[in-house]
Amino acid sequence: MIAVKNLQKHYGKLEILKGIDLEIKKGEVVVVIGPSGSGKSTFLRCLNLLEQPTGGEITFEGESITSKKHDINATREKMGMVFQQFNLFPHKTVLQNITLAPIKVRKQQQAVADKFAMELLKTVGLEDKKDVYPAQLSGGQKQRIAIARALAMQPHVMLFDEPTSALDPEMVGEVLEVMKKLAEDGMTMVIVTHEMGFAREVGDRILFMDGGFIVEQGTPEQVFGNPTHARTKDFLSKVL
Ligand code: ADP
Ligand code: MG
Repeated sequence: MIAVKNLQKHYGKLEILKGIDLEIKKGEVVVVIGPSGSGKSTFLRCLNLLEQPTGGEITFEGESITSKKHDINATREKMGMVFQQFNLFPHKTVLQNITLAPIKVRKQQQAVADKFAMELLKTVGLEDKKDVYPAQLSGGQKQRIAIARALAMQPHVMLFDEPTSALDPEMVGEVLEVMKKLAEDGMTMVIVTHEMGFAREVGDRILFMDGGFIVEQGTPEQVFGNPTHARTKDFLSKVL
């Protein structure tokens, strides 16, 4: 579904991504781990072109999305993204948050958008919150709504950048539960997280990033159980 070839991102002289190569299959759940500042967020943001890569190529569903003539907006619609900070629209209700893009961008009829939004609210267990405003929600509920909002565009892949890092510990589980369900339903997912238990349980593949490279990758058993690189071992010894 996604092929990344020699992806590079520089800010001036600062090299952040130094050549990332990766292929992601449809239905695969790829979990990215690694120390702070290693380029995980930059990598995700390059994948959906929130950042313009400075080198290399990204192919998505057979089409080069890094070529100049590519329509960025069409691709972004197919890639849902969930951030650490939920970024809900504060002056819109939960239902309006979810239906805004389908109505504005997809030109869906209100009734159609509302119906699908209610299905998604059921999926994330928040049907009773449809008419409340984000300020009335807990952090965990906000993030579940942010996930529902991304799903409303029927993305082909979901990108998560530390979706539980801003949450109080007791709310982490409910968000991971929703993500686990998505994974089980076959969604293609790329997830940056520090939740190692979740990574091990839900990931088909673990990527360890450090210093702008993928240092090591493999199944959870390989990376967590038998890491081969010193840097991976060192990182895991600090977080496990
Ligand atoms: P991670 O998500 O792994 O913590 P990031 O991708 O956020 O890492 O950042 C990697 C490096 O890139 C960091 O050193 C960060 O300071 C730098 N960086 C990120 N965004 C910018 C930017 N817009 N301009 C300059 N440097 C940046
Ligand atoms: Mg980050």
